[in-house]
Amino acid sequence: MWFGRPTWAEIDLDAIAANVRAFRAHLPPATGVLAVVKGEGYGHGAVEVARVALAAGATGLAVNFADEGVALRQAGLASEILVLGYVPAWEARKALQHDLTVTVHSRQTALALAAAAQERGQPAAVQLKVDSGLSRFGLQPAEAIAFGEWLRGLPWLELTAVWTHFASADEADKTFSHQQIATFRAVADRLGPGLRRHAANSAGAIDLPAYGFDAVRIGISLYGLYPSDEVRRSVPLRPALALKSRVARLAWLEPGTTVGYGRTWRAERRTQAALVPCGYADGLPRSLSNRGEALVGGQRAPYLGRVSMDQIVVDVTHIPAVGQDDEVVLIGRQGAQEVSAEELARLDGTINYEIVTQISARVPRVYLRGGAVVGVKSVTGLYASPQVFQGTHA
Ligand SMILES: *Cc1c(COP(=O)(O)O)cnc(C)c1O
Repeated sequence: MWFGRPTWAEIDLDAIAANVRAFRAHLPPATGVLAVVKGEGYGHGAVEVARVALAAGATGLAVNFADEGVALRQAGLASEILVLGYVPAWEARKALQHDLTVTVHSRQTALALAAAAQERGQPAAVQLKVDSGLSRFGLQPAEAIAFGEWLRGLPWLELTAVWTHFASADEADKTFSHQQIATFRAVADRLGPGLRRHAANSAGAIDLPAYGFDAVRIGISLYGLYPSDEVRRSVPLRPALALKSRVARLAWLEPGTTVGYGRTWRAERRTQAALVPCGYADGLPRSLSNRGEALVGGQRAPYLGRVSMDQIVVDVTHIPAVGQDDEVVLIGRQGAQEVSAEELARLDGTINYEIVTQISARVPRVYLRGGAVVGVKSVTGLYASPQVFQGTHA
């Protein structure tokens, strides 16, 4: 299966494709789907996810900063790439060289983009973000119209879209989301016709499809995870990621024996302990110490003692016939059991987004299509030609 480091993340590319199709089916046909692949594709691998998402019907890509877009171009991706976050003036030339669509919010960046576009002799498409209530990025409604008009007066820049971002679309109460859209619409209407509009993240696309406008920006749900417990399950999603490892050592511990740094766990009975070579340097939260559970032999195996940098120890006393190198599931399914990203998030006091995004680069990503390995990305390199990710599998 995978004969490298005995800790790896399996990325089911068929699940990514199915999730894109599920959104296309849920939304009006004219609503495009931007696949949000920032944060190294939420830990799944930006390039690999981008290729599959586009082949499955995504209409473009979105990243947070310019170099994330540059990396996609360097890998040969040719679709529209929207930069959602801050692009300082000094990155303007690079952004245009790589044909990235910048969201402008300042005159400095706009002027630098206009100068760079003139230098290249090619007008640059830009977008404008309206801060309708998240108070994070973009122009406040009162300044957006004047800014938009100023922008449209600049030669070499072409304002093509206006967009906004929800603050609480993942909550059951959508009152504030409706208010945000009212604010957004008022600004967009005044900026004039002909501008594309987009507003919805995963939660908005699922629960408020009427606010799909010209496109939605799907992040977490592209990877098969719901944005929160409060969002409806009306779009069927398949989690794409599983985090797996193998039993590295088995040992019987006598009563009174302690496990791990700080000796925070002590055996009260004879205990069979299994060492699992995955720790917080791999992205397993240290807060799971003495709280998390892994799956071994189709059963739950509680973490014993602290999560350390490179390894954990789990209790397999109750699990028959565990052997050296047996598969251990840290996130995902084994037999009838499942440890979800949400379960780890609850224990860690965080959200599923953070759990998958923090799986570190030293964990090999093993890419699957139709259940077969089509590529592996590890610290020692990428073992597949890029074309294998483009496959047309169902
Ligand atoms: C990250 C991000 C998204 C995607 O959000 P999800 O909740 O992961 O779907 C959409 N829009 C913007 C501006 C973002 O920063």
